[in-house]
This record gives sequence, structure tokens and C-alpha cells, in this order.
Amino acid sequence: MYRTHTCGELRLSEVGQSVTLSGWVHKRRDFGGLSFIDLRDRYGITQLAFNEGIDPEMLSKARLQNREFVIQAVGIVVEREKKNTVLDTGEIEISITSLKTLSESKIPPFTIEENTDGGEELRMKYRYLDLRRKRVRDKLLLRNKISMSVRTYLNSNGFADIETPYLIKSTPEGARDFVVPSRVNSGQFYALPQSPQTFKQLLMIGGLDRYYQIVRCFRDEDLRADRQPEFTQIDCEMSFVEQNDILEIFEGLLRHVIRDVHSQELGEIPRMTYDMAMKLYGNDKPDIRFDMTFIEMNSLVKGSNFTVFENAELIVGIKVKGCANYSRKELDILTNFVKRPQLGMSGLIWMKVDDNGTPNSSVNKFFNEDSMKNWMTAFDATKNDLILILAGEKNKTRKALSDLRMHLAEKLKLRNPFEFAPLWIIDFPLLDWDDESKRWVAMHHPFTSPKPQDLSIINEDPGSVRANAYDLVLNGNEIGGGSIRIHEREMQAKMFDLLGFTKEEANEQFGFLMSAFEFGAPPHGGIAFGFDRLVALMGGDEVIRDYIAFPKNNSARDVMIDAPSKISNSQLNDLSIHISNNDVTN
Ligand code: ASP
Repeated sequence: MYRTHTCGELRLSEVGQSVTLSGWVHKRRDFGGLSFIDLRDRYGITQLAFNEGIDPEMLSKARLQNREFVIQAVGIVVEREKKNTVLDTGEIEISITSLKTLSESKIPPFTIEENTDGGEELRMKYRYLDLRRKRVRDKLLLRNKISMSVRTYLNSNGFADIETPYLIKSTPEGARDFVVPSRVNSGQFYALPQSPQTFKQLLMIGGLDRYYQIVRCFRDEDLRADRQPEFTQIDCEMSFVEQNDILEIFEGLLRHVIRDVHSQELGEIPRMTYDMAMKLYGNDKPDIRFDMTFIEMNSLVKGSNFTVFENAELIVGIKVKGCANYSRKELDILTNFVKRPQLGMSGLIWMKVDDNGTPNSSVNKFFNEDSMKNWMTAFDATKNDLILILAGEKNKTRKALSDLRMHLAEKLKLRNPFEFAPLWIIDFPLLDWDDESKRWVAMHHPFTSPKPQDLSIINEDPGSVRANAYDLVLNGNEIGGGSIRIHEREMQAKMFDLLGFTKEEANEQFGFLMSAFEFGAPPHGGIAFGFDRLVALMGGDEVIRDYIAFPKNNSARDVMIDAPSKISNSQLNDLSIHISNNDVTN
């Protein structure tokens, strides 16, 4: 038997017992005639004591055990003289009677401790060593806990876990596909699924009624910080449901997970239309943990000599509570923030309310005190409040003010990661105009149904048609999104037509789904959650990479196994792929 207990288990109640522990040497401390080893495993750290009076042979053996050696130790649990209050096992130590080296270790490339000296790249290369650190390991264990919690909830609500294929057909909609060449069907390719979307709809047509899967999805997108080419979704679909049924079931899921993981009870989860979110937050995934909602000022300020306002499509501001003491320099920094090329605003206008409640602004020349008092009323601003105003083209101005709002929230520490403030965004537009390809693209995906009451304008004003689509937003992050689907062939064909598919293209790519709609398709809808992001947010983080056991780096590489990599000419030949200059020796 390698062990009777784990390294996180023993307490005063076990004093006097003979135990066997196995684990890694975390640290060794030697003094004249005695030594201590901190032994680590997944569960914790226990101190092994080679005390004074110990057999000298045993002592010298202990001193051969270096960091990260795997050892097995037998001894008696004793109460420590000097207790360690940080360690769970800090009241006891093991007085060792026998010791065995199970496996030696080279000196690790970085110290395996909470505060490591290892840089990101090095820790990725030796990910299996990084996983030995508690804070890294805890993230994976949290992931497991959430996955169990999700499964319990969904199973108890009648959802069946059903697998869908990974080798599927490539379709151009959405992101780029990862493709896999077929050897037996020479010159042909599978694609890895961007999501199981069409399969889960086919499961509904197959009568499976409530499906879920915690499933890997693959998207070959341009590299961005914190994007993984393979990521995990909690993918769900239900039959015979309306939007409200889905919102209720899945806010139940979030409630259940937050209760399991943080013992917190969520209050009512607000629902807000996409239009309202854009108007109030300039963003379809607003962080509602803090206020600073947008106040539109067009009707308050139009008609002055101030050309910036006169020429602007939208003039909009936020109130920063109690920040009228911001210095010129601080305001300059905020001005530069909105002038960065990414946001491209021409400037930032401010108004401060002083100690006596008198307003003062960067546009005093154009607006008298009475006008500014009207602004104060609109913003409900009082003593010491600061109002920041942007003006320009509507969408650009909203985006810039939204970024400024988030920047200020960060600066003012209003984003407590363990305060959970979800909301639903509903009534998304069905379509989005893509300026590059000069055509409509589906805002969610082409299987999303339009709102029946908007169908009458679908031909003359497709951009104004709203969809039965919804997102679940948590603390400024989209954690889930879905829709009620189209389940009629004709409507699906109409949708492909709007998206610029010819009849042949639509049939070629999605004929299987449209045919299935002709054999009794139940009304259905669903949602998918970004599992990695959900787990990261539950862990109080926004970086998903740490919550994945073996993630890719920012260049989509796995530096540990060195992938992607070239393959041999014989493998290429098998696949009938010819690459000039494939300098690989077979
Ligand atoms: N398949 C969709 C996605 O990956 C989610 C859904 O509509 O259920 O975004």
C-alpha cells in the first residue's frame, strides 16, 4: 500500500497512529542533527520530522531527498511543539520510522511554490509541473466541481447527455473551420465542429426533447488575447419551448451553480432588450455591478454655439459619483484614453459640481449656469459629482463611453469579482450588416428565428427585424447565448436567401437540415454557455487559460508537446496532400 492517508488529511485526532504517506518533496530543512521534509500531494502538505535521536542512517537518507523527489514515508503522527497556523495539517507532524525514494527528480526549471519564479512560457512548457502548484490545481478542481454541478442540475431537469460527432462537414458560416483531411476519401476533408448546433437540432427532430453536452468546440479565429482555438461549451437544446421557458431553466442553472460553488443566492435576474442595453451602456454585455448608466443629452444641449455638439449625432454622458476632485492631469489621462486610435474620439467634455453645488465645465464658454443645472438634473448630480460627456457618431460614441465606463469602474475598484450580477439581453437584431462583404450576416446564427411580429418588414427593412435570441451576461461577460430556432423548411430557406446563399449553396450545405424539417420538426430552441469563461468567472478571474489543463498559448501553440508541427511526407502522401518545401525527413 503506497499510502494510508493523503498529505492534507491528518489532524490532532490521529496522534499516535502509524501512517504511510506518499508524495513530492516540497521543501527540506536541515539543522544539526535533525531534518524536516514538507511532503506535498494534491490534498495538502504534511511535515515529516526526522528528529533528534533518529538513526543517523535514516537522517542521511532523508538528506538525499531533494525537491520534487517522490517518496514514501512511514511514521507516527505526533503533536507539533511549534504549530503552523497556515497549514491545515499544521498541528501535527509525522515522526518518521522508514523512508523510501519512489522516483527521483531533476532540479525543476522553476520553483513549485505559490509565488513561483517561472515565467509564463516556461510554466507552459512544463505545464505538468505547474499543475503541482496549489493555485493552478485548485482552478482545475473548481472546473470539475462546476461541471458536476451543471450535470446534476441538467440531469435532474430531464436533460440527456448525448455525444455528437467531431468529424463533420465544413460550412463557411461563422468563424473559420479547422479541417481534417480524409485518407480513405482522398482529396476530401472533414471539419471539426464550431459547435454541435445542427446536430442538436436534429436530436430534437429525433424526439430526444432535452439534450445537453459539455463539449469541445473548435474555431480557427484570428489570435486574440485569451481566445483558445479549442474551447468547451455547455451545449443545450429543448423541444416544445418558448423563449421564456429557456430563460427560466437556464437562470435556474446559474443559480444552482453559484449556490453550489459560492453559497450565494442570486436575486431576480433582470431582462433587458438589446436596444436598451446599447442605449444605457453602449454595450450588449453590460457590467451592472455598478451604475454609471448613459444619459443622452441631445435635447439638452442642441442649439448652442458649440459646434462639437451641433455636429454630433449623439451627445451622451455618465456621472462619476464623488469624483469632482479629479485634477486637470487625471482628466487629461481620461481624455487621452478616449482619443486612442481604437476609440478615436476627438475629445472629452467634463462638468464638475463643486462643494456648494455649483456646476463648472470645460465648455463654460458655451453654456451658462442655468443650462448646466439642467444637466445636473438630468444626471441627478449633486455636490462633488463629475460628469463626463462624449459627442460624435452614435455607435462609435457609445463604444467609447462604454470603454471609458469600464475603465473608470476598474480605477474606482467597482468590479468585485465575487459579486455576481447576471442579466439577460433579449431581442437581438436578427441580422448584422457586414461592410466588408456588403451583405447581411446572421447576428447569432442562420438557424435563429425572427420574431413573428417583425416578419412583415423582413423584405423591406431586414436590419430592423428582431430575433428570438438571447444572451446571458455575467459581470460584463457574455457567458451564454442561444435562440428559438427556425423549424420550417420555408422559413429556413428564406433565411439563407437573406444571407445571400443561392438555393444550390443552401441545399449543398444545409440540405440535410432542411429535409429534416419536412419530417415533423418540433418547435425547439436552446443555448450554449462558454464553460471555460463561466469557470474563470466563478474563480474570480477573467483569464480562461488558467482554467484549462493544457491550454494553447497566444499563438495557438501547445509549447509543451510542440503542436502544431510538420508531418512526414509519407503521411502527406497517404492524405494526397502535396506541399512544396515540406522539409521533413521521413
Ligand atoms: N451554437 C450556438 C453557439 O455556439 C449556441 C446556440 O445557439 O445554442 O453560439
